[in-house]
Amino acid sequence: MSDYSFFGAVEKSFDKAAQFTTWDPGILEQIKQCNAVYRMHFPVKIGDKIEVIKAYRVQHSHHKLPCKGGIRFALSVNLDEVMALAALMTYKCAIVNVPFAGAKGGITIDPKKYTPYELEKITRRYTSELIKKNFIGPGIDVPAPDYGTGEREMAWIVDTYASMRPGEIDALGCVTGKPVTQGGVRGRREATGLGVFYGLREVLSMKEVMDKIGLPVGVEGKRVVVQGLGNVGYHTAKFFQEHGAKIVGLSEWEGAIYDMNGLDVDKVVEHRKVKGSILNFPGSTNFAKNTDALEMECDILIPAALENVVNGTNAPNVKAKIIGEAANGPLTPEADEIFAKRGILVVPDMYLNAGGVTVSYFEWLKNLSHVRYGRMEKRFTENLNTHILGQIESLTGKKVNGKEKELILHGPEEVDLVRSGLEETMITATREIMEVWKKNPQIPDMRTAAYVVAINKVGTSYAELGIFP
Ligand code: GLU
Repeated sequence: MSDYSFFGAVEKSFDKAAQFTTWDPGILEQIKQCNAVYRMHFPVKIGDKIEVIKAYRVQHSHHKLPCKGGIRFALSVNLDEVMALAALMTYKCAIVNVPFAGAKGGITIDPKKYTPYELEKITRRYTSELIKKNFIGPGIDVPAPDYGTGEREMAWIVDTYASMRPGEIDALGCVTGKPVTQGGVRGRREATGLGVFYGLREVLSMKEVMDKIGLPVGVEGKRVVVQGLGNVGYHTAKFFQEHGAKIVGLSEWEGAIYDMNGLDVDKVVEHRKVKGSILNFPGSTNFAKNTDALEMECDILIPAALENVVNGTNAPNVKAKIIGEAANGPLTPEADEIFAKRGILVVPDMYLNAGGVTVSYFEWLKNLSHVRYGRMEKRFTENLNTHILGQIESLTGKKVNGKEKELILHGPEEVDLVRSGLEETMITATREIMEVWKKNPQIPDMRTAAYVVAINKVGTSYAELGIFP
């Protein structure tokens, strides 16, 4: 499928970008390597048998602390994959100015094969292993959800950590993506999907870029295909639909569906819940393979599941003009070359899906500050706005009513602040990458431009820290 392993592919992209920087080869090598790799085996009683579980935590870099990155539960989890995902975290955090170093964890299990009680035992034991080796903590390494994990697993992790570190006042900050009732932040669940939307919306608003690929500017009316309807895919599709795009194709592991008139995302999800499959959705055409979605007629293709799904074999058949990488590593280096030649714009994973870690950062800050966002200023802002509006109304002799009035008076809730911080982050990152690309037309694609931005930021960090003699 590809000449490169996943980590090999990340290294290849890194090297491609490194030539457009001026860093000392030693610094480049230090940035590239995984600093600490922890592979563990531990026994867990499943039914009346003892199962030996294989798991990992990789800290790719330490140029900032804590390290940050999700934990994946999947049968396909292996060391190479965790290393690649950890490296992507380093670059992702650097691009969006989130002051963390990159890490990732994984447990090689199929979570569907276990009861919630068994999954809890596995997750708690994994957390204990991390604690034993000092691989977790609010100032050390902070996990989060990834493929196959969610709020429930994060709640088990924080509970295990807090009970083994009694009195540690910042214990809640040892993991992000927690339920709101357990120290989570409002807006984290949909953050990655919303970030993907904000990032692509910004790209779609750039006239110069759109002219080059032959699409009109704006989200409205764009035909979008989303591969994978998990947390990231679902929310991405939802936000595009809400903003006037047409979701023409969706896929899950059992197959794919297409409707040129547009699919209603929530209705498809409901249908799948009832029928157990995405297929046979009224009015749509069935496709037998999940990967058939990648070759559907559309303007924007959004792979939102796992790595390596678009490769040298199927890349020539992709019809989209823009590919938005909501997943981590969905394209192989072979696919990258093909798309660069075909003039297809690839908006790269390590910045486009950074919404998750950006809001994780907000959650971590909330945990360290021990106060909900908006608590201090909401009422103050509303009182002030009421006063200002009252003055304007008495000076003009006119009244503002209804929705408009609500909008003006509204003081920020936690979710408003989180979303606004995320929007600002994604817009700034998009512009920064495009600026670097524009200034250096030799750079072949947006991924390489994003790596250049990341390498320069991490390189600056290492250079300013100095190298230990
Ligand atoms: N697993 C997500 C990612 O790949 C989120 C990581 C985090 O929030 O730390 O970016």
